[in-house]
Amino acid sequence: MYESLKSVIKKLFPNLLYAHEDTLRKVLTWKYRGNLHKCNICETNLSSFINRENGDQLCPRCGSVGRTRRLFSLLSEVSEYKRVLHFSPPKALKKRLQSFDNFDYKTTDYENEFEADYRYDITNIMCPDNQFDLIICYHVLEHIIKDIQAMTELYRVLDDEGQVYIQTPFSNGELMEDYSISSREDRLLHYGQADHVRIYTAEVLINRLRQVGFEVEILEYVESTENNHGYKLQEQVLVARKKLS
Ligand SMILES: [Zn+2]
Repeated sequence: MYESLKSVIKKLFPNLLYAHEDTLRKVLTWKYRGNLHKCNICETNLSSFINRENGDQLCPRCGSVGRTRRLFSLLSEVSEYKRVLHFSPPKALKKRLQSFDNFDYKTTDYENEFEADYRYDITNIMCPDNQFDLIICYHVLEHIIKDIQAMTELYRVLDDEGQVYIQTPFSNGELMEDYSISSREDRLLHYGQADHVRIYTAEVLINRLRQVGFEVEILEYVESTENNHGYKLQEQVLVARKKLS
Protein backbone atom coordinates (compact mmCIF):
# COMPACT_ATOMS: atom_id res chain seq x y z
CA MET A 1 0.00 0.00 0.00
CA TYR A 2 2.87 2.32 0.87
CA GLU A 3 4.42 1.68 -2.52
CA SER A 4 1.25 2.38 -4.48
CA LEU A 5 0.65 5.58 -2.52
CA LYS A 6 4.22 6.59 -3.18
CA SER A 7 3.88 5.96 -6.94
CA VAL A 8 0.63 7.97 -7.10
CA ILE A 9 2.25 10.90 -5.27
CA LYS A 10 5.33 10.56 -7.48
CA LYS A 11 3.20 10.86 -10.62
CA LEU A 12 1.20 13.82 -9.33
CA PHE A 13 3.90 15.73 -7.50
CA PRO A 14 7.34 14.49 -8.57
CA ASN A 15 9.22 17.52 -7.32
CA LEU A 16 7.24 17.74 -4.11
CA LEU A 17 8.03 14.14 -3.19
CA TYR A 18 11.70 14.57 -3.99
CA ALA A 19 11.99 17.76 -1.95
CA HIS A 20 10.23 16.31 1.07
CA GLU A 21 11.23 12.67 0.85
CA ASP A 22 13.35 12.81 3.99
CA THR A 23 10.55 14.38 6.05
CA LEU A 24 7.97 11.95 4.69
CA ARG A 25 10.22 9.02 5.53
CA LYS A 26 10.79 10.33 9.06
CA VAL A 27 7.03 10.49 9.60
CA LEU A 28 6.56 7.00 8.19
CA THR A 29 9.40 5.62 10.35
CA TRP A 30 7.65 6.79 13.53
CA LYS A 31 4.99 4.15 12.87
CA TYR A 32 7.70 1.47 12.76
CA ARG A 33 9.72 2.58 15.77
CA GLY A 34 11.01 -0.28 17.93
CA ASN A 35 14.00 -2.44 18.62
CA LEU A 36 13.33 -5.83 17.07
CA HIS A 37 15.00 -5.06 13.76
CA LYS A 38 17.67 -2.78 12.44
CA CYS A 39 18.45 -1.44 8.98
CA ASN A 40 22.22 -1.81 8.58
CA ILE A 41 22.34 0.92 5.92
CA CYS A 42 20.67 3.84 7.71
CA GLU A 43 21.18 2.24 11.18
CA THR A 44 17.56 2.84 12.18
CA ASN A 45 16.04 0.55 14.82
CA LEU A 46 12.59 -0.71 13.87
CA SER A 47 9.70 -2.79 15.19
CA SER A 48 9.51 -4.31 11.71
CA PHE A 49 10.28 -3.56 8.12
CA ILE A 50 7.45 -2.78 5.69
CA ASN A 51 6.35 -6.07 4.15
CA ARG A 52 5.68 -5.74 0.45
CA GLU A 53 3.51 -8.10 -1.55
CA ASN A 54 6.50 -9.46 -3.47
CA GLY A 55 8.18 -10.53 -0.21
CA ASP A 56 10.61 -7.61 -0.03
CA GLN A 57 11.08 -5.98 3.34
CA LEU A 58 11.39 -2.24 2.90
CA CYS A 59 13.14 0.06 5.38
CA PRO A 60 10.74 2.95 6.07
CA ARG A 61 13.62 5.31 6.81
CA CYS A 62 15.94 4.84 3.82
CA GLY A 63 13.82 2.82 1.40
CA SER A 64 16.33 -0.05 1.16
CA VAL A 65 15.18 -3.60 0.41
CA GLY A 66 16.63 -6.82 1.79
CA ARG A 67 18.97 -7.57 -1.08
CA THR A 68 20.49 -4.09 -0.82
CA ARG A 69 21.12 -4.51 2.91
CA ARG A 70 22.79 -7.90 2.26
CA LEU A 71 24.96 -6.31 -0.42
CA PHE A 72 25.92 -3.58 2.03
CA SER A 73 26.96 -6.20 4.60
CA LEU A 74 29.13 -7.92 1.96
CA LEU A 75 30.76 -4.64 0.93
CA SER A 76 31.33 -3.66 4.57
CA GLU A 77 33.66 -6.63 4.90
CA VAL A 78 35.99 -5.28 2.21
CA SER A 79 38.96 -3.68 3.94
CA GLU A 80 41.41 -3.13 1.06
CA TYR A 81 41.46 -0.09 -1.20
CA LYS A 82 39.13 -0.62 -4.18
CA ARG A 83 38.28 1.28 -7.33
CA VAL A 84 34.53 0.68 -7.44
CA LEU A 85 31.98 1.04 -10.24
CA HIS A 86 28.34 0.71 -9.15
CA PHE A 87 25.58 0.32 -11.76
CA SER A 88 22.15 1.78 -10.90
CA PRO A 89 22.94 2.52 -7.26
CA PRO A 90 20.06 2.68 -4.75
CA LYS A 91 20.18 6.10 -3.10
CA ALA A 92 20.73 5.07 0.53
CA LEU A 93 23.39 2.49 -0.34
CA LYS A 94 25.21 4.99 -2.53
CA LYS A 95 25.28 7.51 0.31
CA ARG A 96 26.88 4.97 2.67
CA LEU A 97 29.40 3.66 0.14
CA GLN A 98 30.47 7.20 -0.76
CA SER A 99 31.65 7.55 2.83
CA PHE A 100 33.90 4.47 2.71
CA ASP A 101 37.51 5.65 2.99
CA ASN A 102 38.83 2.61 1.15
CA PHE A 103 36.52 3.04 -1.88
CA ASP A 104 37.21 5.21 -4.89
CA TYR A 105 33.51 5.04 -5.64
CA LYS A 106 31.95 5.82 -9.02
CA THR A 107 28.32 5.34 -10.00
CA THR A 108 26.55 5.01 -13.32
CA ASP A 109 22.99 4.75 -14.55
CA TYR A 110 22.17 4.70 -18.24
CA GLU A 111 18.44 5.29 -17.92
CA ASN A 112 18.89 8.20 -15.53
CA GLU A 113 16.56 6.48 -13.08
CA PHE A 114 19.12 6.63 -10.28
CA GLU A 115 21.31 9.59 -9.43
CA ALA A 116 24.78 8.71 -10.66
CA ASP A 117 28.12 10.17 -11.78
CA TYR A 118 28.01 8.71 -15.31
CA ARG A 119 25.56 7.37 -17.86
CA TYR A 120 27.61 4.48 -19.23
CA ASP A 121 26.05 2.13 -21.73
CA ILE A 122 26.93 -1.23 -20.19
CA THR A 123 27.37 -2.72 -23.68
CA ASN A 124 29.95 -0.05 -24.52
CA ILE A 125 31.50 1.28 -21.28
CA MET A 126 33.50 4.41 -22.04
CA CYS A 127 36.43 3.45 -19.81
CA PRO A 128 39.87 2.01 -20.45
CA ASP A 129 40.55 -1.68 -19.71
CA ASN A 130 41.21 -2.97 -16.17
CA GLN A 131 39.86 0.18 -14.50
CA PHE A 132 37.97 -1.26 -11.55
CA ASP A 133 38.70 -3.65 -8.68
CA LEU A 134 35.07 -4.09 -7.72
CA ILE A 135 31.97 -3.75 -9.90
CA ILE A 136 28.43 -3.92 -8.55
CA CYS A 137 25.95 -5.01 -11.20
CA TYR A 138 22.71 -5.72 -9.40
CA HIS A 139 19.42 -6.09 -11.24
CA VAL A 140 20.80 -4.73 -14.49
CA LEU A 141 21.48 -7.63 -16.89
CA GLU A 142 17.83 -8.70 -17.07
CA HIS A 143 17.16 -5.33 -18.75
CA ILE A 144 19.83 -5.72 -21.44
CA ILE A 145 19.13 -7.47 -24.74
CA LYS A 146 22.84 -7.67 -25.62
CA ASP A 147 23.72 -9.23 -22.29
CA ILE A 148 26.75 -11.16 -23.57
CA GLN A 149 28.16 -7.88 -24.91
CA ALA A 150 27.53 -6.31 -21.48
CA MET A 151 29.35 -9.16 -19.73
CA THR A 152 32.25 -8.81 -22.19
CA GLU A 153 32.48 -5.13 -21.25
CA LEU A 154 32.37 -5.90 -17.53
CA TYR A 155 35.23 -8.33 -18.10
CA ARG A 156 37.22 -5.74 -20.04
CA VAL A 157 36.98 -2.91 -17.51
CA LEU A 158 37.61 -5.22 -14.52
CA ASP A 159 41.12 -5.44 -13.11
CA ASP A 160 42.73 -8.89 -13.41
CA GLU A 161 42.44 -9.31 -9.63
CA GLY A 162 38.99 -7.74 -9.40
CA GLN A 163 35.51 -9.09 -8.88
CA VAL A 164 31.97 -8.32 -9.99
CA TYR A 165 28.98 -8.77 -7.68
CA ILE A 166 26.03 -9.76 -9.83
CA GLN A 167 22.41 -10.45 -9.11
CA THR A 168 19.23 -10.64 -11.18
CA PRO A 169 15.82 -12.15 -10.46
CA PHE A 170 16.09 -15.91 -11.03
CA SER A 171 13.54 -18.34 -12.39
CA ASN A 172 13.33 -21.66 -10.57
CA GLY A 173 12.19 -23.30 -13.77
CA GLU A 174 13.48 -22.42 -17.19
CA LEU A 175 15.10 -19.42 -18.84
CA MET A 176 12.41 -17.02 -20.07
CA GLU A 177 13.77 -15.13 -23.04
CA ASP A 178 11.72 -14.34 -26.11
CA TYR A 179 12.66 -11.14 -27.92
CA SER A 180 9.41 -11.17 -29.90
CA ILE A 181 7.87 -10.09 -26.59
CA SER A 182 8.70 -6.42 -27.00
CA SER A 183 5.89 -4.19 -25.75
CA ARG A 184 5.93 -2.97 -22.17
CA GLU A 185 2.54 -4.58 -21.57
CA ASP A 186 3.67 -7.98 -22.83
CA ARG A 187 6.95 -7.82 -20.92
CA LEU A 188 5.07 -6.97 -17.75
CA LEU A 189 2.82 -9.96 -18.34
CA HIS A 190 5.64 -12.41 -19.12
CA TYR A 191 8.54 -11.19 -17.00
CA GLY A 192 6.72 -9.38 -14.20
CA GLN A 193 8.28 -6.01 -15.06
CA ALA A 194 7.74 -3.83 -18.11
CA ASP A 195 11.45 -3.17 -18.71
CA HIS A 196 12.75 -6.73 -18.28
CA VAL A 197 13.76 -8.63 -21.40
CA ARG A 198 14.31 -12.06 -19.78
CA ILE A 199 14.32 -14.01 -16.58
CA TYR A 200 17.51 -16.02 -16.16
CA THR A 201 17.95 -19.19 -14.26
CA ALA A 202 21.07 -18.99 -12.10
CA GLU A 203 22.60 -21.73 -14.25
CA VAL A 204 22.06 -19.85 -17.53
CA LEU A 205 23.50 -16.62 -16.15
CA ILE A 206 26.54 -18.46 -14.76
CA ASN A 207 27.10 -20.19 -18.11
CA ARG A 208 26.93 -16.89 -20.01
CA LEU A 209 29.42 -15.32 -17.60
CA ARG A 210 31.74 -18.29 -18.12
CA GLN A 211 31.32 -17.91 -21.87
CA VAL A 212 33.00 -14.47 -21.76
CA GLY A 213 35.84 -15.70 -19.56
CA PHE A 214 34.68 -15.29 -15.95
CA GLU A 215 34.82 -17.92 -13.28
CA VAL A 216 31.84 -17.65 -10.96
CA GLU A 217 31.38 -18.25 -7.25
CA ILE A 218 27.81 -18.56 -5.97
CA LEU A 219 27.03 -17.18 -2.52
CA GLU A 220 23.81 -18.75 -1.22
CA TYR A 221 21.84 -17.51 1.76
CA VAL A 222 18.88 -18.92 3.64
CA GLU A 223 17.45 -16.81 6.47
CA SER A 224 14.68 -17.14 9.02
CA THR A 225 11.69 -14.82 8.76
CA GLU A 226 12.86 -13.14 11.97
CA ASN A 227 16.32 -12.20 10.74
CA ASN A 228 17.29 -8.93 12.28
CA HIS A 229 18.28 -7.01 9.17
CA GLY A 230 15.30 -8.02 7.02
CA TYR A 231 17.42 -9.90 4.50
CA LYS A 232 15.68 -11.87 1.77
CA LEU A 233 14.83 -15.36 2.99
CA GLN A 234 16.53 -17.04 0.06
CA GLU A 235 19.10 -15.30 -2.03
CA GLN A 236 21.95 -15.97 -4.41
CA VAL A 237 24.76 -13.55 -5.19
CA LEU A 238 27.16 -14.33 -8.02
CA VAL A 239 30.77 -13.24 -7.70
CA ALA A 240 32.55 -13.22 -11.06
CA ARG A 241 36.32 -13.09 -11.38
CA LYS A 242 38.57 -13.19 -14.41
CA LYS A 243 39.74 -16.66 -15.22
CA LEU A 244 43.34 -16.04 -16.05
CA SER A 245 45.20 -18.65 -18.03
ZN1 LIG B 1 17.25 1.99 6.29
